[in-house]
Amino acid sequence: MKPLHESNPRARIAVLPERVRNQIAAGEVIERPASVVKELVENALDAGAKSIRVELEEGGARLIRVTDDGGGMPRADLELAFVAHATSKLFDVHDLDHIASLGFRGEALASMGAIARCAITSREPHATTGWRIECAGAVTSEPREAGAPVGTSVEVRELFYNVPARRRFLKTTATELGRALDVIQRLALAHVGVAFTATHDGRRLFDVEAGMDLRARIRRTFGADLADALVEVDARDGGSAESGGDVRLTGFVAPPRFARGDTTRQMWFLNGRMVKDKVLLRALRDGYRGFLFDTRQPVAFLSLSMDPAAVDVNVHPAKFDVRFRDERRLFGFLVSSIRAAVRTTDMATPGARMIDDVVRREARELPFHAPLVGFAGGSAPSFTSGPGGARAPITVHEVPGRDDSSADSHALAATHAGATARAMPASALGGVGGPLLQVARTYIVRPLEGGFEIVDQHALHERIQFEEIRAQMARGAVETQRLLVPELVELSRAEMASLSDHFETLTRIGIDLSAFGETTVAVNGLPARLARPRPAAIVRDALAVIENARELTAERLLEDVLHRAACRSSVMAGDTLTDEEMRTLIERGRHLESDQTCVHGRPTRVRFTAADLERAFERR
Ligand code: ADP
Ligand code: MG
Repeated sequence: MKPLHESNPRARIAVLPERVRNQIAAGEVIERPASVVKELVENALDAGAKSIRVELEEGGARLIRVTDDGGGMPRADLELAFVAHATSKLFDVHDLDHIASLGFRGEALASMGAIARCAITSREPHATTGWRIECAGAVTSEPREAGAPVGTSVEVRELFYNVPARRRFLKTTATELGRALDVIQRLALAHVGVAFTATHDGRRLFDVEAGMDLRARIRRTFGADLADALVEVDARDGGSAESGGDVRLTGFVAPPRFARGDTTRQMWFLNGRMVKDKVLLRALRDGYRGFLFDTRQPVAFLSLSMDPAAVDVNVHPAKFDVRFRDERRLFGFLVSSIRAAVRTTDMATPGARMIDDVVRREARELPFHAPLVGFAGGSAPSFTSGPGGARAPITVHEVPGRDDSSADSHALAATHAGATARAMPASALGGVGGPLLQVARTYIVRPLEGGFEIVDQHALHERIQFEEIRAQMARGAVETQRLLVPELVELSRAEMASLSDHFETLTRIGIDLSAFGETTVAVNGLPARLARPRPAAIVRDALAVIENARELTAERLLEDVLHRAACRSSVMAGDTLTDEEMRTLIERGRHLESDQTCVHGRPTRVRFTAADLERAFERR
């Protein structure tokens, strides 16, 4: 066998040549065109760019070019740019404790140079000329002079041209393009103040101007329907020095009705870095608990700023996961801040949404109306994808290759029809004057100024009871209604054992249980706020919660038991209500912070504005 190691012919272990090392490292950093886009745009941001252009061809597989107006690189830096572990952002190991730049590993350009044909052209602000260097298959050219504007342009052509296994692994053009666009959009939302443009095969895909704030960027990216419904979050947690000091959470949360089947509209930014960290995603879910069906994913755009020393971003080369120094405290802060904002979102289902559904359905049925769905309004052109361009045009607001969620289509339909914000002014929601009408013994129709709403009586009653008892619990004063004669419920020995561990906890929501012999539990009292308490059912529900929970905290137990109790003891669909009862129900709802979804996340009301009606009657 040919010796691999020059200095010691007998050794079987050899240090891999740099070229091979870079190819291996490239596998971790560069998975697909979207990863190249991410690394190049992050480099541009680190260089202080105020304007960034991304050009793609064939979904990025043929060409990715990122051009910025940042600080540029001198000739000497260009010579090192493709060398592995060469970085200007980190000097020694202590710097790893407080990384403020997006890059620091010095791997990205070296990786690209190993698996694509790359070139960098760069010019510093005061230099008389620019320089260009090329690198393909890890072989780097001498830099040569080149005329160029101030800033840097990096070109990555024929990604994986020398790694056929990887190249085969790439998905269709539309899918790769969709992922690249997703990265561009996320970074554009994370960096307000920086202008972004993206083109595909010469056609404009996406752009935001430097002066657009976050809401304007979201509107451009996902449509006016979503942007107008967002509620702002701005919260601060002044932690101790060891826990990492001040933490600030800013951004927007969307009303629960915008939730989707996937997490593509959950965007978390940590000190300007796009992250997909599990702790953050979990905090978001918990913030929406009770406002959403468990299988739906909320939509939110949230930015966290904290001392870089309080978080470790060097967990994985792609830097999506991070580790927080004081995860527990951060988690609590995030959940409560998100929750407070979610409560104030407008959770009524707008009547316009139902009308849009009809409009859309008709547009689909009538072929001559079809273009209505295809053409984006304004300056944004659409692009076709796939062989022969036979598919329906996809508008630029959609990420191709993803399944279409209804919330998005609504946003689209609304954009096409030129609709503007439909939110009702808060002043229009007050007052219980006017007649109330019960329909189908299930819904209450209630006039509003400039419209009307339809309330689901069961869903609303359930939310009211839940929220009222929870508010009492927060004050530490849940009123308990004692039963004149305790109700006895027979259980198995095992059930008795697991339930009795929680007797104490359950008193906090006004449920008073005690053991009555070995297999019988006595229900002595229940929350006074429950309209029609059913003791045996509540005991069974508590057991079900205890048995099904993966990790059972006291808060979780109380909340879940309360959910079920509120549901069971509410007026049902089919119950006839008197005028007085309807009025009381709606009045009690108005005193709550959130009366707009039932505890399972179903909306409690659908609201029609005059504009919705005009639309339905085709008056405009
Ligand atoms: P890292 O970003 O982790 O430092 P990279 O391989 O991405 O590693 O980049 C290597 C170095 O090249 C950077 O540290 C930076 O000095 C320089 N560089 C890369 N892109 C740009 C750019 N767009 N503008 C100015 N300098 C750049
Ligand atoms: Mg970098």
